Amino acid sequence: MMNNDKMDNMSAFLLPVLLYPQNALDPVISANTISFHYGKHHRAYVDNLNKLVAETELANLSLEKIINVTAGKVDQAAIFNNASQAWNHTFYWNSLTPNGGGEVPAVLKAKIEASFASVDACKKELVTAATTQFGSGWAWLVLDGDKLKVIKTSNADSPLTKGMKPLLTIDVWEHAYYLDYQNRRPDHVNAVVDKLLNWSFAADNLK
Ligand code: MN
Repeated sequence: MMNNDKMDNMSAFLLPVLLYPQNALDPVISANTISFHYGKHHRAYVDNLNKLVAETELANLSLEKIINVTAGKVDQAAIFNNASQAWNHTFYWNSLTPNGGGEVPAVLKAKIEASFASVDACKKELVTAATTQFGSGWAWLVLDGDKLKVIKTSNADSPLTKGMKPLLTIDVWEHAYYLDYQNRRPDHVNAVVDKLLNWSFAADNLK
């Protein structure tokens, strides 16, 4: 999977390489949307973060560390927002795959069935969280202790600062769907859950 690693502690954060062509998620997410979402929005979070931490002690930290040490600190909100959005977007691109949404790997499936009534019930909760998040934010499948849960976060907020382990995410900022769906967020979310979710990636995150 693509990740947020730097070449070494002193180098800048990089925009990770997208693992599929920009038209690979079409027609659920168009190449036009990806070109703005990945090429402009995600890139801007990475570029802004690099500018904000340059020549500070934060520049030596991993992205996850920066997110955790700046979370909740009013004077470091801009750094938190850009770091967390950089992390969230990399995780989001990994959460999607062309021809996704199919069978859930056995180990994850058993875990889902222990935490929800069924895989379908889990998907329904994800759709509900993604469609009811008021304003910008994210819907997540997370591991919280030994239970799986669906949660939603606002703006740049992350399960990482709540002690939860993210397995999958859906971006519900308007920039994620507006070019293709305008105000029809539920149509976008249902299509993402049915056709793009990368359950193998989610299963890998359980390990
Ligand atoms: Mn986004």
